[in-house]
Amino acid sequence: MPLAEMARRLRAGEGLPPRAVALSFDDGYASNYELAFPILRELGLPATIFLATGFLDGTDPLWFQQVDLALCAGIPLPGAASLGEWLAELKTLPEEAMRLRVENLLKGVTLPVAPKVTRPLTWDQVREMRDSGLIDFGGHTHAHPILARCSVEKQRHEIITCRDRILAELGQPPRAFAFPNGGPGDFTPETLSLLAEAGFESAWTMICGRATAAGPFMHLPRYGAPESVWETEATVSGAFELVRQWKGGRA
Ligand SMILES: [Zn+2]
Repeated sequence: MPLAEMARRLRAGEGLPPRAVALSFDDGYASNYELAFPILRELGLPATIFLATGFLDGTDPLWFQQVDLALCAGIPLPGAASLGEWLAELKTLPEEAMRLRVENLLKGVTLPVAPKVTRPLTWDQVREMRDSGLIDFGGHTHAHPILARCSVEKQRHEIITCRDRILAELGQPPRAFAFPNGGPGDFTPETLSLLAEAGFESAWTMICGRATAAGPFMHLPRYGAPESVWETEATVSGAFELVRQWKGGRA
């Protein structure tokens, strides 16, 4: 079902049909149009794409993609054991300090051109998908910072700019939001108030779990992309959830 319909039913306390699933994609990569959209259209499956609007505008490249491209250009990471560890450390820093680290890494480096499917969607592709009636669009900030590492003013700016850019391009403001990075420590109580003030009706994390009518509607759970049909079935049927509860009960 469309994610907006799922959010509406949860808020109204209507519950969901058995095995209900909503599909969503984050950031706004061209692959959503080139690879996913033809399949979704063929199968008649609705989906929501959460847009980092500065990525689409070309003003704010995704910082982690820049790091990736820099590594492809052969530059070494500064004193870190692995990319995973370096990224994990960056994600703990205040936004300005994190950007500074990335800026220093990129200084003087000519980045290779990103592979086509990892470039941003164009706004025309967004409108074409919207016009199909299958795809709708949510907010994912403008420059993709981790909101909890930003000042409240910066958080407000990111949320409002994202909302207003989508409104300007699509004629309608987004109602759903997904948090960049999406972990439990990646948003603050202020983030949730700012989202509600900006007119968002639901917000989605990357914390694993099933969405229920118990909410909380401004930080709902999502499962990461399954890597096999088997994993999809285990997720949708609730098998994973049962195992988790069983393990939790034993812990
Ligand atoms: Zn993202």
